[in-house]
Amino acid sequence: MKNKIRLFVFDFDGTALGGYFPYEEFPGPFVDFLDGLGKKGVKWATNTTWSPDAQYGLIVRSGVRSRPVFLSGQTGRQLATVKRGRVVHDEAYERGVIVRERIFWRKHWRELRRIGMELLRKGLVERLELNGVNQNIISFKSRKGRGDKVWRYFEGLLRSGEYYEWDPSHGEEGILLPRMMNKGGVLTEMQHRLGIGPENTMVAGDGTNDLHMFDKRRAHWMVCPANANRYVKQAVRKNHGVVAKGKYSWGIVEGIMKLMP
Ligand SMILES: [Mg+2]
Repeated sequence: MKNKIRLFVFDFDGTALGGYFPYEEFPGPFVDFLDGLGKKGVKWATNTTWSPDAQYGLIVRSGVRSRPVFLSGQTGRQLATVKRGRVVHDEAYERGVIVRERIFWRKHWRELRRIGMELLRKGLVERLELNGVNQNIISFKSRKGRGDKVWRYFEGLLRSGEYYEWDPSHGEEGILLPRMMNKGGVLTEMQHRLGIGPENTMVAGDGTNDLHMFDKRRAHWMVCPANANRYVKQAVRKNHGVVAKGKYSWGIVEGIMKLMP
C-alpha cells in the first residue's frame, strides 16, 4: 500500500470553508468529494481551531453522509470521534494536553513576567496577554512604530522553538503559540491510532498554523488552495505538493484530483 492515499486531513477556515454562503457549511462539490473518498478506501479527518462539536454540527448541516475517523479542534488540543451520531471526546488525550500546558507555563512564567513588566515599563505595548485563554498564547499590540522593539523581546523564545509565530510577517500585532499547540502532533497521533504512515497521508490547509502538517515526516501528499499564505505555498512547493489555481475547497478538490485521479 505504499504511495497510496489512505488518510486525508484538512483545515476548516480558508481551506474547506470560504467563498460560499452560508460560510458555516461545506460547498456541495466538497461534500460530494468527501463522500466519494470512502469508495476509494480513503478515511478523512479534520484539524482546525473549531471545537469537534461545532465541526460535527457543520458536517451534518452540510449534508455529508460519510463520517470522519477523527475530529481535531483547538489547533491539536482536542481529539474526538463520532460514535452513533454523537461526538465522543478522547478525555485522556485532552487531559494530557492540559497537563503539558501547565508544565510549560510553570517553565516559562517567570521569564514572561519579566518581559511583560519591561514592555509595560517602557510603554512599548498597547495590549499584552501572556497566557491567553489559559493556553499559553501570547498576544500583543505594540504602540505605533514600536513593533520591531517588541518583537525583539520575544526573539529568544522563538529561537529556542518554545513558541512559534501565527503570522511571521512581524507587524505591530503579534500572536505567539506554544510549540505543543500545533496541528502536527495530533496528526501523528491519528496516524499512530490508524496505523497509517506519512506515505499514505494527504493534508490540506492554508495558514501558518497548518505548517506543522506540511512536513514530509508527517505527510507525503499535500495540497493548498490559491488563497493559502506564502509560507504554506513555499512548504507545499518544497515538498512537491500541489498549489491549486482555485480558492478554498474548490482548490482543494482540484489539487487532489491531480494527485489521485
Ligand atoms: Mg485556515
